[in-house]
Amino acid sequence: MKNKITILIIASIATLIALSGIQAYLIENAYQLKKKSFIQETDNAISDIDNHPELDSLVDILGDDLRTNLGDYENKRITKAEVIGRLKMKGDSINAAYMERYNKELRAIDLGYKIRYKRQLTSIIVFNRKENDTIFSSSKRKGLVILGEDFQNEDSHVIKSARTFTEFDFIIQENDSVFTNTFDVELKTKDVILITDWKSIVFRRMASLMIFSVLLFLFVVGLFYYSIKTLINQKKITEIKTDFINNITHELKTPLATLSVASKSLKNAEIRNSAEAFDNTLNIVDRQNTRLQKLIDQVLTNSLSAKEIVLSKDVVTDNEYFNDLISDFKLSTQQPALSIINKVCSQEVLLRIDTFHFTTALFNILENAVKYGTDETEITIETSLKSNEYCIKISDNGEGISIKDQSQIFDKFYRVSHGNVHNVKGLGLGLYYTSQIVNAHQGKITVQSELQQGTTFTITIPIN
Ligand code: ADP
Repeated sequence: MKNKITILIIASIATLIALSGIQAYLIENAYQLKKKSFIQETDNAISDIDNHPELDSLVDILGDDLRTNLGDYENKRITKAEVIGRLKMKGDSINAAYMERYNKELRAIDLGYKIRYKRQLTSIIVFNRKENDTIFSSSKRKGLVILGEDFQNEDSHVIKSARTFTEFDFIIQENDSVFTNTFDVELKTKDVILITDWKSIVFRRMASLMIFSVLLFLFVVGLFYYSIKTLINQKKITEIKTDFINNITHELKTPLATLSVASKSLKNAEIRNSAEAFDNTLNIVDRQNTRLQKLIDQVLTNSLSAKEIVLSKDVVTDNEYFNDLISDFKLSTQQPALSIINKVCSQEVLLRIDTFHFTTALFNILENAVKYGTDETEITIETSLKSNEYCIKISDNGEGISIKDQSQIFDKFYRVSHGNVHNVKGLGLGLYYTSQIVNAHQGKITVQSELQQGTTFTITIPIN
């Protein structure tokens, strides 16, 4: 059974790990999808901005300037680097106007979040008759920002890649002769945006999904925990019940065996003819009968819960009550080396208790002190009055109860086992009954104990 539970716990943990792995994978997928759709949404919303006539005309100025510079380059008046330098300078000069118009359009769309924009030059290639002449290529240098804000490419997104192929007519001057030539120019640009807080926006959009997933996960963990806890509890209860059945069988066996021997004896003519032997055997039958009756009463009465117990309360004076209790207990127990120290508070207090049940409850504690005590058992009964509560402390110098067992000794049928061996007879009902009686009196019972030192039971009951 223990092995099965261990296997079940391991299987549950493994299932939980697998489930959380799958859930993490699904959340990651959902995150990527949300991210994609968010960027697509932004892309669609701003795709028309750069078609604005004012922005178009500014870009045209840049294009015209580039054309002039390429003409100068073809006439070998400037280098490639100068073409790019001039392009950059021109871009810088119109950038303020470009961005002002761009941001105005952006505000008009009202996205609800901030974006940064830049246009990057990726390559310029001039195709002439002889060969292709690469003026600029971003594979050699990082993309050149010609318009917009300069920001890191990390976390940014390309929303548009443009490739224009234009035919340019250049005036060529060679050896004092002037003629026009035609070149094709391929220009590649990229429009890049950076949504400043895109992560938090995507996370916010996924919030409900994530909260629901976490709650679901916690619910499954809770369910597993509850099921395993219930299973362990059930196992404990089964063990306790089996223990109880073993104990009661053991308790019943002895009187039944004695009764069987006695009844056989009574059939014997010799015993029937001797009045003394006959009386002796009848006494044995009587004693065993009483013992059996007591056992059954113990099971029936001590199994009652606080709700089932009907109290019939009397008013008693504490001193008198405890004096009687101590002398009755001394009489009933056959422990010669027993000493009971009476420390009942000097002030006389009137207690409203069901004397029959309350006495039985206290007797259970006293009997345990003897049962689980040393050869020289010493019990102290101390009482005190605290505001509206009457406090009874019963201490002994016995074997003590471990911390682990202390929380369970008031459970029905619970017995402290010493490696599956019970040296002292009992059904595990005494303290259960005592706690139920104390509860029925609206009181509380607690235990403090140290192994090999002794045990103290504290009962508090309201006195009004
Ligand atoms: P029982 O005595 O029939 O086993 P109880 O309900 O009276 O059942 O006690 C439960 C367990 O608590 C006992 O099995 C015993 O191990 C432990 N116990 C109770 N009282 C004492 C005590 N005074 N000293 C040591 N152990 C005790």
